[in-house]
Amino acid sequence: MRWRHDGARLSAGRRGGVPAVFVDRDGTLNREVDYLVAVEQLRLLPGAAEGVRRLRAAGFAVVVVTNQSAVARGLLSRAALAAIHRELGRRLAARCTRLDGLYVCPHHPLAGRPPLRRRCRCRKPAPGMVRRAARELGLDLERSYCVGDGPVDVALAAATGMRAVLVLTGHGRRTARARDAAMPVAHVALNFRAAAKWIIDDARRRRARRRR
Ligand SMILES: [Mg+2]
Ligand SMILES: [Zn+2]
Repeated sequence: MRWRHDGARLSAGRRGGVPAVFVDRDGTLNREVDYLVAVEQLRLLPGAAEGVRRLRAAGFAVVVVTNQSAVARGLLSRAALAAIHRELGRRLAARCTRLDGLYVCPHHPLAGRPPLRRRCRCRKPAPGMVRRAARELGLDLERSYCVGDGPVDVALAAATGMRAVLVLTGHGRRTARARDAAMPVAHVALNFRAAAKWIIDDARRRRARRRR
């Protein structure tokens, strides 16, 4: 993995825009299962909904960005994916919260057939989904964060000038073990709820520093 730091070149970040937390889906919000292809496999991780609720209450837009190459691989239809995301929405609503956006990359560079088999600009760690969300939702990437359990989530943060929080759920422990000194992780959190708490505190510290 190469760590790109070209966030400053992105035009997407809007000053005065809303700060966001970009959240990986599998292994971060819901339990990691090798390919999540049916609604019945969806299990929200403990504290996930609470984390979303707290972040939104603190003024962050919460946006899921997820690589779903299962679509390119022919393991998952668009309709089944939409059903999984409707159910995710229902589970969050049952806990009095919701997402501000959800972006999916259905592609894979090698698997399946065109047009889904292609080198796209949205498969993490490419910044396509973040750029699009920033444009559509009016986000300020400089004040934004990215939370996930994989190296691609950290690389996505580096590529877009955001701070990365690694969670130890899903593949997070493996990612933490394989982590080299150059991997730009701002914080390692036990789970998404702990990540949310750290982000809210970190944003407060940054605001206080700017005022001084
Ligand atoms: Mg993940
Ligand atoms: Zn893509």
